[in-house]
Amino acid sequence: MQRFKALMVSKGDAGQTLAWQELSEADLMPGNVLVRVSHSTINYKDGLAITGKAPVVRRWPMIPGIDFAGMVASSTHPDFKAGDEVILNGWGVGETHFGGYAQMARVNGDWLVKKPAAFTAAETMAIGTAGYTAMLCVLALERHGVRPDSGPVLVTGAAGGVGSVAIALLAGLGYQVTASTGRTSETAYLKGLGAIEVIDRSELSGTPRPISKERWAAAVDSVGSTTLANVLSMTKYGGTVAACGLAQGMDLPTSVAPFILRAVTLAGVDSVMAPKVARLEAWSRLARDVDKAKLAAMTVTRPATDVVALAPEILAGKVRGRVALELG
Ligand code: NDP
Repeated sequence: MQRFKALMVSKGDAGQTLAWQELSEADLMPGNVLVRVSHSTINYKDGLAITGKAPVVRRWPMIPGIDFAGMVASSTHPDFKAGDEVILNGWGVGETHFGGYAQMARVNGDWLVKKPAAFTAAETMAIGTAGYTAMLCVLALERHGVRPDSGPVLVTGAAGGVGSVAIALLAGLGYQVTASTGRTSETAYLKGLGAIEVIDRSELSGTPRPISKERWAAAVDSVGSTTLANVLSMTKYGGTVAACGLAQGMDLPTSVAPFILRAVTLAGVDSVMAPKVARLEAWSRLARDVDKAKLAAMTVTRPATDVVALAPEILAGKVRGRVALELG
């Protein structure tokens, strides 16, 4: 039986421990598709899982990694056969089911999406859950009637993974994008992705007023907390804010004022349990709308063994854009 490497996180009396271990297929959890994993990535949630800063892992021991891309080695699922190239985002993988930081994965085939022909496996992981979530946010804005001529669109957490992909997608679709960042030293990077304006995130960190001067027709927010409350108070009449993240915090110190006085819509976005139809739509739009040059500009590729060192960096907001990981 083939042996392979996997990052295993365990919990003991001394707390959480991490080790790359050699496993065999028999060690994997049940599923009807076995995948030879070539690439994964690190998202904010993976940083939480690896460091143990939040209870992302809910079954011990666990192979973390909420995303992977690879080739089907064997399958009893009717939609997949050996040799198919597939991607996986979420569904509790890396939380309750062994995840992407392993050279092999066995999963429920219902969780898999066929890799769009437009992308290499490495590019799908450069996009990863962060980029697929950015696309879900764009689709949420579109569903609520936001169009490029509606007015400027704000992206918070701009230099992060969700933010970087959201800027590139929105700019490519013709929106005027304002990027909010704590790293104004990244202004050239953010303008390179298509932002026409870069603001310091301190503009969105004051005590939120019920409503403030109207600034943006829509927003993609991956930060939450005080930032999201300020964004809501500054959203134009009838605008929509797609909220997907909590990089600043889980709280939301707002009031009903933006909703009942400005008819603002707060659209929640979840990638983990999103139904397959929504995933297929998002990946097909990513295949159409991602500018490969911008994707390359926001991505660094590293060996998967670097993921343990990257975890505290992503939580500290020090990772710019996206990191694709090679499982080798
Ligand atoms: P990143 O770490 O790559 O990006 C987060 C960015 O948020 C940072 O780069 C930083 O941007 C900004 N930020 C960090 N800390 C603070 C703070 N204290 N106050 C204000 N801004 C801050 O993470 P991801 O892009 O991978 O994920 C972003 C968020 O979205 C996370 O909370 C994640 O859990 C969530 N998420 C949710 C998903 C869902 O399904 N709903 C799916 C994917 C992600 P800058 O330096 O530009 O200010």
